[in-house]
Amino acid sequence: MTAYETLRANPEFTALRAVSARLGSDPLQVQGPGGNTSIKSEGIMWVKASGTWLADAETQDIFVPVDHVSLAQAIAADDGSADDVGPFTFASDNPSGLRASIEATVHAGSKAKVVLHTHCVATIAAAIRADASAFLAEKLAGLPYAFIPYVKPGSNLARVIRNVAPEGTEILILSNHGLVVCGETVAEADGLLREVSARLTPTTMADPAAASQMLQDQLSGTGWFPVPHGPTQRIAQDERLLAIANGRTLYPDHLVFLGPGVTVAMASETIAQVVARAAQSPIPSKLVIVPGEGVAMPETASRSELALATAFGDVLARIDPNAAVTRLSEDQEAELLDWDAEAYRQSLNMERGEERRPI
Ligand SMILES: [Zn+2]
Repeated sequence: MTAYETLRANPEFTALRAVSARLGSDPLQVQGPGGNTSIKSEGIMWVKASGTWLADAETQDIFVPVDHVSLAQAIAADDGSADDVGPFTFASDNPSGLRASIEATVHAGSKAKVVLHTHCVATIAAAIRADASAFLAEKLAGLPYAFIPYVKPGSNLARVIRNVAPEGTEILILSNHGLVVCGETVAEADGLLREVSARLTPTTMADPAAASQMLQDQLSGTGWFPVPHGPTQRIAQDERLLAIANGRTLYPDHLVFLGPGVTVAMASETIAQVVARAAQSPIPSKLVIVPGEGVAMPETASRSELALATAFGDVLARIDPNAAVTRLSEDQEAELLDWDAEAYRQSLNMERGEERRPI
């Protein structure tokens, strides 16, 4: 039997595929190709492949075999050798030929058999709060969790987790990013994920709203349309939510799929002018908010972009509108886009209509 055939005979793998597909189909846990799951079995860690969707876990081969022992040693050595997960893949046992997720390092860093990582919107709403440490201490009292400061997803994140969380910590709340749970069985990890998500979900949330008729009429012919999600539309109707939305990016996948932050229409701009400004900026913004009217995105939006526009409303609906939030810095945004930090800053300045600074 090949390693993959052995794995497929393991009922825990069947359970992992089912939980992965469920999480991947739940927009409150996973948006687009985000999130990843893994299982360690017979000396191999099988982790979701980069670019695949957890929703497809039961119908496609989305798991890649990784030498997690060597990868964990590379993370501990902290010499940069864990930056590329590729060399740690068991190529001869890789049925799909796909690359492991860059977050495989986070999975390898845990000794637990099962690791689930999602971009749970309730967790993100809690983890972007400026007072997240105290807030989590109250909401997650009694649970074995650690709050991990923001770093770029990948080997750096695995290293920070290693330094911050005592070995065996079963729940990791990733600042401005999401949730990781670890267990000896799929059921145990899934139980923790449900518990944390439930505890961090507020009892009251902002009501959904709809885009105004004026916005719908004026978007006609621009190539943009109102985001078809009530919680996202709500942001345009609530000054406090708009203040949270209107700033630098809150979490990585928003930046990767929708561009930095949001573009908010100025009082002097027509609808056609603001969507043109968003589309033509050096780093295009795919989310435009027209205060009092609604939120729009390009008609050409991919499924992933639509999922992130939906998640933005779901995250903001779950945050206390009076809470202060922590945002990614310009350097952190540039790093996610693989931009040179200074070039990125200048592009943002151009978008804001500021003078280009001499180099
Ligand atoms: Zn992630």
